[in-house]
Amino acid sequence: MKTAVVLYTSDLRLHDHPPLRAALATCDRVVPLFVHDRAVERAGFAAPNRTAFLADCLADLDAALRERGGRLVLRSGEVADEVGALVREAGAVELHLAAGVSGYAQARERRLREALRGQGCALHAHDGVITAVAPGAILPSGRGSGHFAVFTPYLRRWSELPPRRAAAAPRVVRVPEDIGSEEPPRRSAVTGTSPGLARGGEREARRLLTRWLRSGLARYEDTHDDLAADATSRLSPHLHFGTLSPVEAAQRAREAGGPGAEAFVRQLCWRDFHHQVLAARPETATEDYRPRHDRWRTGRDAEEEIRAWKEGRTGYPVVDAAMRQLRHEGWMHNRGRLLAAGFLTKTLYADWRTGARHFLDLLVDGDVANNQLNWQWVAGTGTDTRPNRILNPVRQGLRYDPEGRYVHRWVPELAGLPAPRVHEPWRLPAAERARYDYPEPVVDLAEGRARFLEGRRDDAP
Ligand code: FAD
Repeated sequence: MKTAVVLYTSDLRLHDHPPLRAALATCDRVVPLFVHDRAVERAGFAAPNRTAFLADCLADLDAALRERGGRLVLRSGEVADEVGALVREAGAVELHLAAGVSGYAQARERRLREALRGQGCALHAHDGVITAVAPGAILPSGRGSGHFAVFTPYLRRWSELPPRRAAAAPRVVRVPEDIGSEEPPRRSAVTGTSPGLARGGEREARRLLTRWLRSGLARYEDTHDDLAADATSRLSPHLHFGTLSPVEAAQRAREAGGPGAEAFVRQLCWRDFHHQVLAARPETATEDYRPRHDRWRTGRDAEEEIRAWKEGRTGYPVVDAAMRQLRHEGWMHNRGRLLAAGFLTKTLYADWRTGARHFLDLLVDGDVANNQLNWQWVAGTGTDTRPNRILNPVRQGLRYDPEGRYVHRWVPELAGLPAPRVHEPWRLPAAERARYDYPEPVVDLAEGRARFLEGRRDDAP
């Protein structure tokens, strides 16, 4: 009887799961394991919204395994210690897991190799689980940098790769009976979650994907930037926790076809793009990808403005709507993320790390690669080829929320004020302005712009 351990991390699914398939192909019994990682908690990364969503994912994975004769084994502690102990307990000869992408995941893999040394258990790290294309699988020609720094050439090469076919879920998973498990966490036990938080789990991910392909994808190219239409897939938390395989998402979208499919697959490529940057430059989780020698603002004024930004009361309705959506749902529309992050880093000229941290505290899809590198992209310290562009929140509002419906939904104080005036309430005549209990702008846009351009001594290449 050969036994394997399959270590689940950000890949909480049965469909299209190369580590589980490989383990089932070579071993008679498999221990599907998830470790509540103490290091993640110590790093302050276990935000309530993600903790609650994770509880759903684990419950659903356990149920799906039980339907196949197995179950999920839960432990908590330091991952390498727990895996080492379980390998001994189960007499496992193989450990399968998804290859790590972030600096943390890479270090975890090294620690696992050390923990298994001399135990007669081979470690297999599988690519194409967390991302569709593994970081480093395609490299820019003629350069030794080890990653693509510009998206378009990456997209070209990424699109040329013959995609792997997504695999079905296994029908039977045999788990040794004598392996103990901790009690599963319950979503309802998590406090401080957003009231409109989405539900997690592979079943939910597959339901959403099917619905999206049937009724959302065809309109995606035209509507993905429309804030009020809310016409994006909302699959990001499922891609983050791996309840949906990015390979399968891309494959099924391509099968559905049309311009919406291409636009959607392109976004999945953005996801891979940021992951390959992070894998090559793990320090960019906290440091500028391209240092711009910014003199980010500090001090009391800046702190008060940052607080107003976090609370959704900057006086710029579309920014406030986006920030309130984040707090209410633990999720924000991509256009909202762009303009809210642009407002913080350019108009308020506050350090991108402050905003990225706030997003990570609330986002259910909060992800080191996508969050930190998108923040850097917006702040102009990352891979954007136009680092000093400044998004004007009024123009953004008029363009992406032309009827003001997004603002009306999230800033009810302004619900009676029609577009286009809802995007510039400070311009109303005083008597009319007094009818709305809504703050004055925390900063003048022209002043913010001048301050940013003066503070940024952009001597980067
Ligand atoms: P769709 O438009 O349906 O796109 C499909 C999928 O493609 C998404 O689920 C996501 O996995 C991927 N994707 C889309 N846009 C991007 C992008 N710009 N970069 C990388 N992947 C993308 N995304 C996260 O998953 N986690 C984050 O922590 C995160 N933080 C962000 C912070 C900022 C400042 C910005 C500007 C963007 C951030 N994004 C992040 C990217 C993007 O906003 C979200 O992925 C998207 O809004 C999720 O909604 P959706 O699933 O409906 O996306």
